[in-house]
Amino acid sequence: MNKLLPPDYHMHTHNSGDSQAPMEEMILSSIKQGLSEICFTEHLDLNYPLLPDLPPDPFMLDVDAYYKEYSYYSDKYKNQITIKFGVEVGMQDDCVKENLEFVKEHDFDFVIASQHLLEKRDPFYSDFWEADTVDNIFKKYFDATLENIRSFTDFDVLGHLDYISRYVPEGDDTYSYKRYSEQIDAILEHLIRKDKGLDLNSKVLAYTDLNLLPNPCPEIIKRYKEMGGKIITFGSDAHTPDRVATHFDVMTDIVKDCGFTEYYTFKKRIPTAHKLL
Ligand SMILES: [Zn+2]
Ligand SMILES: [Zn+2]
Repeated sequence: MNKLLPPDYHMHTHNSGDSQAPMEEMILSSIKQGLSEICFTEHLDLNYPLLPDLPPDPFMLDVDAYYKEYSYYSDKYKNQITIKFGVEVGMQDDCVKENLEFVKEHDFDFVIASQHLLEKRDPFYSDFWEADTVDNIFKKYFDATLENIRSFTDFDVLGHLDYISRYVPEGDDTYSYKRYSEQIDAILEHLIRKDKGLDLNSKVLAYTDLNLLPNPCPEIIKRYKEMGGKIITFGSDAHTPDRVATHFDVMTDIVKDCGFTEYYTFKKRIPTAHKLL
């Protein structure tokens, strides 16, 4: 048991269209790992394209059912762990108004804004990468991210910046921070100016066979710090209990190497800094 791990502020349960995990099992795994706090961040991804292996509208969120379950378990385990009520909102230019209304209507502690799609295609599928050159796809992805965080303004942290780098065709080494630094810096500059943070996402560190970097990559985390960025949260993006807080020890070292001494938690959308141990 490691008491020193920071809270996990990015995890999913069966309330998300791509997870079967019972909420209670995610909580028990968190307690077992000695976490003092977690935040559930279920998916809401409106206007999702129709995909071969997913049902239509796979990432709609039944917030009332989610809240009911959250209330029950956060109370049941309140003496062992603090549990926050969050959401991960998928950004697209055709649902900005709906996303803004959704966040406004509900009493979330924490909101992640994520760019999962580009031009109605999902980077998980190979046709995404066949549509253009990898270089053009990255350029368009960062452009779309900046455009979307300018219009979808009601969020706390940007989810897994450079997310699509998880899915580049095998062996492709087009992507680096340096190559897209102008666009990435513009995203970071906007986040800092608007007091928004970064979700430091350790999900792919569990894929040991692929030797991948976290999202965003350490160079971006470092650049955010250099530019004056302060707000960071740790996220495993766990969809199963065994992945809760995955590689948070490695992430902590990366984050400290990038110059950070604090991480943040949120309550009713208000950030609080804590010392990184
Ligand atoms: Zn995501
Ligand atoms: Zn997620």
